[in-house]
Amino acid sequence: MTERGSRSGRGGEWAIVVHGGAGPIGEGRDETLRSGCAEAAARGAAVLESGGSAIDAVCAAVEHLEDVPDFNAGRGSVLNRAGEIEVDAGLMTSDLAIGAVAAVPWLLHPIRLARLVLEDGRHVLLAGEGALAFARRYGIEPEPRERMVTPRAEARHAARLARVPTGSESSEPGDTVGACALDLRGGLAAATSTGGTPGKRPGRVGDSPLAGAGFWVDARHGAASATGTGEAIIRVLASRQAIALLEVGHPVGTAAQGAVDAIGRPGRGEGGIIVLDRSGGIGLASSSQAMPWASIVGGRGASGVLRRDSL
Ligand code: ASP
Repeated sequence: MTERGSRSGRGGEWAIVVHGGAGPIGEGRDETLRSGCAEAAARGAAVLESGGSAIDAVCAAVEHLEDVPDFNAGRGSVLNRAGEIEVDAGLMTSDLAIGAVAAVPWLLHPIRLARLVLEDGRHVLLAGEGALAFARRYGIEPEPRERMVTPRAEARHAARLARVPTGSESSEPGDTVGACALDLRGGLAAATSTGGTPGKRPGRVGDSPLAGAGFWVDARHGAASATGTGEAIIRVLASRQAIALLEVGHPVGTAAQGAVDAIGRPGRGEGGIIVLDRSGGIGLASSSQAMPWASIVGGRGASGVLRRDSL
């Protein structure tokens, strides 16, 4: 199996890896997205370093990226066909606890709500108005439009309505966020959060809140978070697939690349994945034009933008 478009590393006792979405990221945005990921990884690392849990670490990382308007998660999410924001997010820990929310309108921190679903424990996934009703029990309300919609998201939507070609990035996925962490007690967690694909139908749910597709954790092997064409990622359960490859003994970089190869199989699908194995090894792979990422393993940080043609 080729290692093209993938990287892997091995490290210490705690670890965090973050992605900022696979897709065409557009001119001049590399540094903004890379540094956003680096800061998110640092927030997660601060939790892990002080003995905090993997779930706290992935939530700290993802919540940061939901706040940064340059990412397609929380503030900065893409607009759907109706010009609205509907967000998806999900997370999982190594004891098979899962929480997810889908197609929830105008939420700034969907990962926070997904965590409340996990902690409540009665259900795994809440969607739409029902998810909002659940949010309100915790005092979480939809945000006003002006707090959530960025000029970039507005411009992409306007271009789509006017059917003006603004380059390949106008309707493709990208800028979704995700994180995987390993804590000092050996606990693992993965989380993914997105506004979905630009111009999606209202009510469309992608892979990000679906366990096995947008994220997966196995206590014995590792954690994964995927990004890219949601429909393809769902069809091949890309995150579950990456962990299955670890399970049969593949190295973490090969597991990441294998999952990305699978995303391409249904046709028209592309994307990326981050994989963290239980000894702190990190695998990154992407078949999309670019995927910003950052990692900190046992105190050593790295970050960059993985390019399809960079290796
Ligand atoms: N996977 C996300 C979705 O299809 C989009 C992305 O990763 O950018 O909703």
